[in-house]
Amino acid sequence: MQETATVQPMAGVDLIDVSTVEAIKRHLLSHLVHGVGVAPQYASPRDWMVAVATLVRGVLSEQYLETALREREQKARRVYYLSLEYLMGRSLRKTLLDIGLLERVEQALTDLGQELEDIQEHEYDAALGNGGLGRLAACFLDSLATHSYPGFGYGIRYEFGMFTQRIEHGEQVEHPETWLRHGNPWEFERPSIIYPVRFRGRMMTFRGEDGREVCRWIDTEDVIAMAYDVPVSGFGSGVVTKLRLWSARATRDFDLNIFNQGNYIDAVKAKTLSENLSKVLYPADTTLMGQELRLMQEYFFVSASLQDILARHTRTYGDLSALPEKVCIQLNDTHPALAVPEMMRLLLDQYGYDWAAAWAMTRGIFNYTNHTLLPEALETWPIAMLEQILPRHLDIIYKINYQFLQQVKVSFPGQPDILGRLSLIDDGARRVRMAHLAVVGSGHVNGVAALHTDLMRRHVFADFQRLDTDKIVNVTNGVTQRRWVVQSNPDLTALIDDCIGPRWKTDLTELKAFERFADDAGVRDRFAAIKRDNKQRLGALVEARTGVRFDPAALFDSQVKRIHEYKRQLLNLLHVITLYNRIRSGQGDGILPRCVLIAGKSAPGYFLAKQIIRLINDAAMVINNDPACKGRLSLAFLPNYNVSAAEVIIPGTDLSEQISTAGMEASGTGNMKFALNGALTIGTLDGANIEIKDAVGDDNIFIFGKTAAEVTEMRMQGYRPWDIYNADEELRQAVDMIGSGYFTPDDPGRYRCVFDAILTHGDHFFVMADYADYIRVQAQVEQTYRQPEDWTRKAIINVANMGGFSSDRSIHDYARKIWRITPLKR
Ligand SMILES: *Cc1c(COP(=O)(O)O)cnc(C)c1O
Repeated sequence: MQETATVQPMAGVDLIDVSTVEAIKRHLLSHLVHGVGVAPQYASPRDWMVAVATLVRGVLSEQYLETALREREQKARRVYYLSLEYLMGRSLRKTLLDIGLLERVEQALTDLGQELEDIQEHEYDAALGNGGLGRLAACFLDSLATHSYPGFGYGIRYEFGMFTQRIEHGEQVEHPETWLRHGNPWEFERPSIIYPVRFRGRMMTFRGEDGREVCRWIDTEDVIAMAYDVPVSGFGSGVVTKLRLWSARATRDFDLNIFNQGNYIDAVKAKTLSENLSKVLYPADTTLMGQELRLMQEYFFVSASLQDILARHTRTYGDLSALPEKVCIQLNDTHPALAVPEMMRLLLDQYGYDWAAAWAMTRGIFNYTNHTLLPEALETWPIAMLEQILPRHLDIIYKINYQFLQQVKVSFPGQPDILGRLSLIDDGARRVRMAHLAVVGSGHVNGVAALHTDLMRRHVFADFQRLDTDKIVNVTNGVTQRRWVVQSNPDLTALIDDCIGPRWKTDLTELKAFERFADDAGVRDRFAAIKRDNKQRLGALVEARTGVRFDPAALFDSQVKRIHEYKRQLLNLLHVITLYNRIRSGQGDGILPRCVLIAGKSAPGYFLAKQIIRLINDAAMVINNDPACKGRLSLAFLPNYNVSAAEVIIPGTDLSEQISTAGMEASGTGNMKFALNGALTIGTLDGANIEIKDAVGDDNIFIFGKTAAEVTEMRMQGYRPWDIYNADEELRQAVDMIGSGYFTPDDPGRYRCVFDAILTHGDHFFVMADYADYIRVQAQVEQTYRQPEDWTRKAIINVANMGGFSSDRSIHDYARKIWRITPLKR
């Protein structure tokens, strides 16, 4: 029996021969002619990119089919990662590295008169995410595949991903990101993998033959979810994980009805309306956009994914009895929290389970990751909206809530207050609290850094913590060293390989062995030369995109991340203006030359964040054009921050700005990427900065500012930003320049709103409170940078101690603490 089960899925299939450069050349030429349909001598760089990607996709497909066979044979317990966002970036170079084809393909292309360096620029970034949360999902898929864990990602195939940011007259202007306009060479379209997803309608309840109450959801408006599969490679593992992305299609029935009524135009309109569901990624990072379309998008995604999971499980195991044993589902934030009532609905209404059995199964399947404690980001939906769009789910949520509150009463007798606080329903606001739904429906809930998890337990989820002290756990985020070092910093990779061998690529803790090379002058020289080359490359990018000259001899100081008040780009700018004022007032002699880079997108509707972008650009114009600043201070805002830009910025940075208000950045992952590439961090005691400090040591990081506890304390005591402003001459001058229009004399009131935010309106993010300490520690940065040997030594120590911040470690933690999955056997 075993023998027949191990039949090769590719029996009778000619596997793609990529063993030699010659074979690869033949494949590429063939793909151009047979796939792209162009004569090689007329092929554009994009045509070549498509030819290489198509070849690689073929190899991945073979590896995926092998992986899937092993999973079936081993009856492996599998984790399904549900995320509304995946910030993948480009895949070509990354995949070639993973499957060991980089050198051969480079050679093949060179022989054919092409350069991989050029053609890879023609791949669009897959930007199906806003920022950290989506990038984390991408790193996790990489780590799952690299370590042979049985995993599977679900998401939405947005036709328009994260918008393209252009800067026009200093302001952010959003342009649609049409990443699919030349097709996507990585995906497999699956027209036969389709599921209906229903909306609206009404419920009909009746008694079934066995006397049980049966619920029918009828007169619904249906949309079809169709699958697109993207294979995600692992590094050297031969394992390929699938990312299945759903695209919305109109149902044919729906069309026909209207067609039959003779109204062709309306029928076509209705078709486009349903296809709107997967049209666009919502570009708000940390605020809830309470639109109906977003709710429908979330449900569309959740319903298709769960139907697919249950169908696959039934195919493999015959029925659903082993579901909680074989299936584990991770909810990436509350965006897919409707999976909890949807699973209940499927088990109750579709598969005929009774409530208790269905609930027991559901509770055993889900886990939930919380990504933010910012109140404006915590999802809630109006009851009235759910009633309209998902009446059956609202019904199920009420019932889950009723049962849950019964238990709470038992646990906390005589404490009616706690019922209101824990309820899934905010009665006053008439809204459903999605985080509560996710917590109640999950076996484990995790925060993403030690401080964040601690704050979850003590504040937002304190009542849940009292109810069940084992439910909330910490899994600190991580980043994949394959993309963030091996791919994006090849010279550093070669240096580390030369010093300690290659094992760090799949076990980052090995990097510790690199630490002793901090005392090796030869290695330090090489390390510094690599940094210099990477700065050259970054300088060229900045100059090409902004016209601002960045001299690699200067300190490269970068803050790149979403623009948000809590991340405090404004604090960074106040430092720059302070330096500018010192230069203007004749204190510029001997100042350390510094190039400050800021990049990031603002949510389109976030007025103040957009004003901050504009202010940075207006200030940059003045500073960069002031002859006194020449060779001393430059400021640039790089438009359209995305994964590909990060891959150039991070290796080319000396100083990493991680300066959020303590208690507000859940983890951060940018902080990890920078330190891993030998940038020193200036940062607050927030998110994973704390763990980075513990790892690299206090002498090798620049920490400043109030702690989370101090911030809370100040808030309670009545924080007075005006007092700080009045007492600090340099601060007052810098803030006044913003408020009085120094940088925009023709429109002096332009940044009054910024001035008001940090003074009149109470400085919610404690910019004034942390300014002086920030300036003080920035001066320490300067002193250290003047000692290049010392700086480089610290940088190497940073790299060597980042072993704990790999997404591999995160995934191993999830696998052990939460998912209870083990790697596939060979
Ligand atoms: C890593 C990354 C982020 C997250 O950065 P933070 O500094 O942690 O906010 C956002 N966007 C992109 C493109 C990234 O690569």
